[in-house]
Amino acid sequence: MQFSKLGLCQNLQQALKKNAYFTPTPIQEKVIPLILQNHDILVKAQTGSGKTASFVLPILEHLAKNTKKEKAKKKVLVLTPTRELTIQVAQTFTTFYEFLPVKQKVISIIGGERIGNQIYKTQQDSDILVATSERFLDVLNKKQTNLKNLEFFVLDEADKMFDFGFAEELDNILKAIPKKRQNLLFSATYPLKM
Ligand code: AMP
Repeated sequence: MQFSKLGLCQNLQQALKKNAYFTPTPIQEKVIPLILQNHDILVKAQTGSGKTASFVLPILEHLAKNTKKEKAKKKVLVLTPTRELTIQVAQTFTTFYEFLPVKQKVISIIGGERIGNQIYKTQQDSDILVATSERFLDVLNKKQTNLKNLEFFVLDEADKMFDFGFAEELDNILKAIPKKRQNLLFSATYPLKM
């Protein structure tokens, strides 16, 4: 199977080649077409399976359909359990949007930075917000972030977030985001302990 068979545009395929992604991993082969068809997904995936690109690429494909230059609205929220993973996911978005006609603005929120700066950051125009779950909850509790245009809600390594007691906070997040959205959930264990 080639990436060209998965329904991704030429610009994304160019970025894949540039980054030496020649063949999709089994997770990418299954998940990319499902996300492109607007399905919600729950995927059992380990680190190293290629799970990051399996959601980053089809999300970028969806966003790239809008070629009008308009004010960035937060359309994508990705929550992860760690700083490292947050940085890796944000980097993967920037790596792959390189050749898209309209650049997507990515913001990452991690622990260890001043909360005031992070609230300011989330208030800036951005298309994609990637955050550690704990830090995102701190920012959300200050009620300063507008997520009413959200289209994609991604939980990456969800099992680890639930180990940290994320389940009780999830309700608050769900109240702050639109009911109509695409949910993408990745977890190393399944079923999740919720
Ligand atoms: P992940 O499981 O998303 O953390 O990815 C693990 C590593 O595999 C990362 O360094 C990715 O850049 C790399 N990777 C993911 N998918 C592919 C692919 N199809 N071809 C080459 N490298 C890949």
